[in-house]
Amino acid sequence: MPVTEKNGKYYPPEEFSKNAWIKSYEQYQEIYKRSVEDPEGFWAEVASEFFWYKKWDKVLSYNFDITKGKVFHEWFTGGKTNVCYNAIDRHLDTPLRNKAAIIWQGEPEEDTKILTYLTLHREVCRFANVLKKKGLKKGDRVSIYLPMVWQLPVVMLACARIGCPHSVVFGGFSAEALGHRVIESESKLLITIDQSLRNGRAFDLKVSADEAIKDAPACQSVIVVKRTGAPCPMTPGRDTWYEDEMKADDIADFCECEQMDAEDVLYLLYTSGSTGKPKGQVHTTAGYMIYTALTHKWIFDIQPETLFWCMADIGWVTGHSYIVYAPLVNGTTTFIYEGTPLWPKPDRAWELIDRYKINVCYTAPTAIRAMSRQGDEWPNKHPMSSLKLLGTVGEPINPEAWQWYHKNVGKGNCPIVDTWWQTETGGILITPLPGAWPTKPGAATFPFPGCVPRVADPGVDDETKRGAKLEAGKTGHLCIEKPWPGLSRTIYGDHDRWEQTYFSQYPGMYFTGDGCLVDADGYHFLQGRVDDVINISGHRISTAEVESALVLHKAVAEAAAAGMPDEIKGQGIYVFVTLKLGIEPSDALKKELIAHVRKEIGAIATPDKLQFAPALPKTRSGKIMRRILRKIAENKPEDLGDVSTLEDSAVIQNLVANRI
Ligand code: ATP
Ligand code: MG
Repeated sequence: MPVTEKNGKYYPPEEFSKNAWIKSYEQYQEIYKRSVEDPEGFWAEVASEFFWYKKWDKVLSYNFDITKGKVFHEWFTGGKTNVCYNAIDRHLDTPLRNKAAIIWQGEPEEDTKILTYLTLHREVCRFANVLKKKGLKKGDRVSIYLPMVWQLPVVMLACARIGCPHSVVFGGFSAEALGHRVIESESKLLITIDQSLRNGRAFDLKVSADEAIKDAPACQSVIVVKRTGAPCPMTPGRDTWYEDEMKADDIADFCECEQMDAEDVLYLLYTSGSTGKPKGQVHTTAGYMIYTALTHKWIFDIQPETLFWCMADIGWVTGHSYIVYAPLVNGTTTFIYEGTPLWPKPDRAWELIDRYKINVCYTAPTAIRAMSRQGDEWPNKHPMSSLKLLGTVGEPINPEAWQWYHKNVGKGNCPIVDTWWQTETGGILITPLPGAWPTKPGAATFPFPGCVPRVADPGVDDETKRGAKLEAGKTGHLCIEKPWPGLSRTIYGDHDRWEQTYFSQYPGMYFTGDGCLVDADGYHFLQGRVDDVINISGHRISTAEVESALVLHKAVAEAAAAGMPDEIKGQGIYVFVTLKLGIEPSDALKKELIAHVRKEIGAIATPDKLQFAPALPKTRSGKIMRRILRKIAENKPEDLGDVSTLEDSAVIQNLVANRI
């Protein structure tokens, strides 16, 4: 049954709503009301469906008001549980025992692996025993530098099992970036791999790992997964193979779970670095587990038979929450793919969806734009009839990309959940509940239960209004008024930075750093970073709006807008445009695109400069780094700031060389 469109709203198929966890807007409203009027009662009820060694004494204590003292929030105080127990052991006495927990597909066709809950249990227990044998104890940090191999969730869960906070560093990061993170976390042990495979090439991760830990004296052991078997430097006494450790005679099949305090640290993880130096977020045990599991279940409408594919890398929070922890805690089968969606052919992802009969596909606008750039013929070769629901996260999705995803991937039959959240938030905060209400392209729609958003007046025109709730149709700063269990507790080793970054702008509220607008129907439209708003003669234009207008044009694959100084208007608009494959830049096209934006948004948003760019600078998680484009637009290429998470520095040289 198709999704039906009426007046720009896309309604879920009736059948979908009928079977969904949340079936109607009325049902949502009832739950939502309860969640904000009685958050302690609401979350206690949710929490009681999980396994606890000891129940909590108090559900919530917090202070969000920096003017009243230390900012903190604490959930389920006094409770004792273990995330690994909830993700695996809890399912072993149920029919889930022999269900696939993880289906892994390697980049080479023939490399596959299925771990049932029972076989995953054995693997995780054995590795937890390996960690113990290495002398690790509750509280010791472990760094993990692995690509998307099946051993990655295994080692994360083993850490969680014995109470060692993990710090996963995306496998695409350089030795230097890894080194900083290992040193900052004072990790005692590093888990890595001989080589990673990507787009048919092998990368020597172990060589980078060696380089990274040269100056990390605390890191005394390295465990290396064997992926390709290529020659690999091993330091005797420090480095051992995963496979050898796992088969040792003294490693038992069972390892007791550590009884963790609800607020004990589960992991640390760095943000993407789109707006500045990456921030090491600290997530704790019970609140994170409960929040990610509930959001996963309701937002992706997880049913017992759902095969769930989150295409993110586990090195980002999306992968932590929605590839590893939430799906396993919910007893879902999580699909993990080692490679990238465009290799060896641009329909690799669609082919996998058909082959494995994947039901839910969750990816990012950057991936959608990259796939659509290749042309519609690639998804059109595949029926993908198993798909029921699509999701996106990471950046505002341009309505054009949304339509492409809807038509070519969902074939008009799948609701799309545009989920807004951050590394800090642990899980999704603003999102459609797909059976409950119609979506609008580009809107993350409504808050998840427990989340109280406010589009705050930035107070530019009138300082006294700063922080007040803005009326519909006005763009302001998105803040969250109340705590929820998934929010990070601190920035590792720098609580002051956590307070300053999130709680100093609007005392009493969590400041997200994102712009947002609520329309007359109450739908939330995210507008990009607040720093990315361009102020033209007093009119505030969001970069997202200009970019969405540009990608509406059939020649444009991707676009980014930045403000540049302008003597008369204060700021002008500088845009960078990547064309679709096979389209050549020309002056005529440049004029046409400028006129197109003017027509779509209005004369006020007419770009002053337009530069064609073969590629845009992105973080390694695929987000456009507008702060760098801003510096190029302002002609300050020597002042780019922290570029440690930049994917490809050649892109910048090209942009600077061709600046107009
Ligand atoms: P840093 O905080 O280091 O600058 P980052 O903010 O890119 O990096 P993440 O935590 O990976 O790090 O990304 C969160 C941000 O991604 C959000 O603040 C928001 O700007 C953007 N985002 C995520 N999902 C959406 C969405 N559905 N719609 C719009 N923006 C989104
Ligand atoms: Mg951020």
